[in-house]
Amino acid sequence: MKINYFLLLLVVIFLTSACATTPIHTDTGNTKIKVLAVESFLGDITQNIAGSRIVVDLLIPPGVDPHEFEPAPADIAKISDSTLIVVNGGGLEPWLDKTIALDAGQQKVIIASNGLVPRNEQKTGGLVATKSGQKGSNPTTDPHFWLDPNLVITYVENIRDGLIAVDPTGKEEYSHNAENYIIQLQELDRWINDQVSDIPTGRRLLVTNHESFGYFADRYGFKIIGTIVPSFSSLAAPSAYQLAQLIELIRSNNVKAIFLETGANPILARQIASETGAKVIEDLYTHSLTPSTGPASTYIEMMRFDTLTIVNALK
Ligand SMILES: [Zn+2]
Repeated sequence: MKINYFLLLLVVIFLTSACATTPIHTDTGNTKIKVLAVESFLGDITQNIAGSRIVVDLLIPPGVDPHEFEPAPADIAKISDSTLIVVNGGGLEPWLDKTIALDAGQQKVIIASNGLVPRNEQKTGGLVATKSGQKGSNPTTDPHFWLDPNLVITYVENIRDGLIAVDPTGKEEYSHNAENYIIQLQELDRWINDQVSDIPTGRRLLVTNHESFGYFADRYGFKIIGTIVPSFSSLAAPSAYQLAQLIELIRSNNVKAIFLETGANPILARQIASETGAKVIEDLYTHSLTPSTGPASTYIEMMRFDTLTIVNALK
């Protein structure tokens, strides 16, 4: 099966690079350019920069955990058909290297987090420093940069530059849109700081289902007490000993709430809650936006929703 995809990809890459030598530009935007964002939050960020010139398509639909994603044949065809793919990078898409290894060094892939330095893997306290649970394709560094809006400024710059590279005539529009969006990210950052200031410093303690809130915690002064899944991926599982350790940490730190991302299995969290008195909050949106009718249909809405949810649970 894999060999077939490989061949298909080779053919399509050959065809698209052949096309790239005769670029077609129009004055009213460039419909020949197909931009595909892997995660829904990246799709929204990219669309904000692309503006009216390009309609950005999504690979992973809203509601699907990117850690669990494996491309189906239709997805691989979609990737092959795109001019430009926007990925998070940092280990969030372990399937990607296999799928588009051929493209290394070409303009086809924008790694949004390119240039950002992952926070140190070795954290103090809690379960997060344990080695177990790191199996399979779990990332060894933390890919969740986007949960700090300041780091998303780097995403915006990388995406802007990638769009300009494939559509130079749109440079002015992409630059202008990127500038506007960066201002919105800076406003979001100030707003989150304001909201978080309602939580007494000693209560800024996070227990989450997997290790996704590191950059958010670093930026806004939270301490991560522990995680149910001791991994940067949501796919690992804790041992009974690790759970017992986490329960002890929640008790000794008087942690008020356990936060789960939507789609996470709540059974362990509820069990921990029943033994510690902490409440379980089950609806943080972190890796995927909601459809347009939901409370997190854009990246900025998602961050605002999560911030309010965390503040209300801890203040
Ligand atoms: Zn994650």
